[in-house]
Amino acid sequence: LGTRCPHDAHLMNPRSKLVLLVTAALATAVGRSIVRDQPADDAAARYFKGNTHTHSLWSDGNGAPQLIARWYKERGYDFLALTDHNILMRGEKWFTVAKEGGRDQRLTKARLDELQEVSELSPVETRVVEGVESMRLWTLEQVRERFEQPNEFLLIESEEVTGGFDGRPVHINALGVDERLLPGDGDTLSAMMDDTVGLIRAHGEGRSHPTLAFVNHPNFQWAMDFEELAMLTHDRFFEVYNGHPSTNNAGDEAHPSTEDMWDRAMVRRMTELGRGGEAGLLYALATDDSHEYHEWGPMKTNPGRGWVMVRATELSEVALLEAMHAGDFYASSGVELKQIVNDGTSLSIQIEPEFGMRYKTSFIGTRINGDVVGKVGSVFSTTDQLSATYRFAGDELYVRAVVEKLTPQQTETEDWRDPFLDKAWVQPVLVKP
Ligand SMILES: [Zn+2]
Ligand SMILES: [Zn+2]
Repeated sequence: LGTRCPHDAHLMNPRSKLVLLVTAALATAVGRSIVRDQPADDAAARYFKGNTHTHSLWSDGNGAPQLIARWYKERGYDFLALTDHNILMRGEKWFTVAKEGGRDQRLTKARLDELQEVSELSPVETRVVEGVESMRLWTLEQVRERFEQPNEFLLIESEEVTGGFDGRPVHINALGVDERLLPGDGDTLSAMMDDTVGLIRAHGEGRSHPTLAFVNHPNFQWAMDFEELAMLTHDRFFEVYNGHPSTNNAGDEAHPSTEDMWDRAMVRRMTELGRGGEAGLLYALATDDSHEYHEWGPMKTNPGRGWVMVRATELSEVALLEAMHAGDFYASSGVELKQIVNDGTSLSIQIEPEFGMRYKTSFIGTRINGDVVGKVGSVFSTTDQLSATYRFAGDELYVRAVVEKLTPQQTETEDWRDPFLDKAWVQPVLVKP
C-alpha cells in the first residue's frame, strides 16, 4: 500500500467532460419543471439523492458494477459513486468464476447466469484460460453508457484511497477523480490522513475540476480519535454514519460515537487550533459502504442504509461537489427534509413526513463565553413539530440539527435498535455574535 503506482496516470477520459457538458445543458433546460418546495428565489434548486461509498467486484464487493448501478437507479437514487479500494474502473480486468467449494464465492455460476440472462446487465464477456473461467468486469465507461441519463442518474468516478498508519486503517474516499491516487505520507496518523486529502484536492485543482475527499468510518477498528479528525486542513468531510455493521458509529464505553467526535473535533478546531469561522466546521456524510448485493440481513453489508441529499440546480458532478463544499447538503439514514434555512438569526428545518411516523428534531451546538467553552454538543432545544426553528442566542460556536424518526409503536423502554438508523443530520452553521 505504501508505494505509488503511476500506472493509470496517463489515461485521460475526455468523454467524462463531454457527459458533464451535455448533462449540464439538459439539466438547465428541464430543471425548473421538477422543483418542489423550494423558496421562489431558489426555484431551480432541488435535492439530489446519492450514495458515495460503494464496493464492487473491482475490489472486495460481491456485485458486478452493472448490477449495483441498476440497484441504486431503480430505487430512485440520482447519483452513485463506485469507490473501490485503490483502483479505478478502467482497463481490462477479469474476475474468476467460483468453483464449488472454492474460497472466493463472490462470482458464482448462478450469479454469472443472472448477468447473462438479464438484458439490462448484458452483454457479459467470459473466457476460459487453462480450464479457468473468468468474466470481464464492466468499466465505468460501460456502466455509464448503460445507466446514465441526463437529470436522472449520474455516476461520479471515485475511489476509496486505502492505507494505514501504525496498523490503524486510514481510508479516504475521493470523489470526482480521473486518475488512481494512493495514500500520502506523514509522521502521524493525522498528518498522513491530511496529506492524502491534500493529494485528492490537488488532483482536482490540477485539472480545474472539483474533487471531494472525506474520511471514512473513523471508528472502524477504533482507527482515530477526535483530536486526529480535528487536524484536517485540506478538506472538511467525514462519515458520521457508515452502513457497514462493524464500523462502530455509536462508539462504546471507551470511545465516543462519531456524532460526539464531530462536536468535539469542531470545538477543538475553533478553540485550541485557532481555526475561526468557516475553517472550523466539519461536514458529515452518511454512506452505505456496501459490499454485498445477493444476501440480505442486518449484519450483511447491504446497500440502502446511508446517503446524502445534495441541493443543486442540476445533476452534474461539478454542481453536486460544489454544493457539498458549500455545505448545501444533509446526511440521511431514513429521514427526508423539505428545506433547511439559515437566515443568519435562526436555523430552520422542515421535515417531509412519512405517513404515520413521528419525528423528533434536536438542535445541538456548543456555547462559548469569553474563553470558557460550555458543554460540548449540548442539546439546545427539541421539538416534535414537522417545522422546527432554533433562534441563535449569539454565544454559540455553531449550531446543527438532527432529526430522528420514531416509529408509532416506539416507547421509551423499547429494546435496543441501531441508534444511527432513521435519522437526518443537518450540517453545522456558524453563529455570528
Ligand atoms: Zn474503508
Ligand atoms: Zn469502503
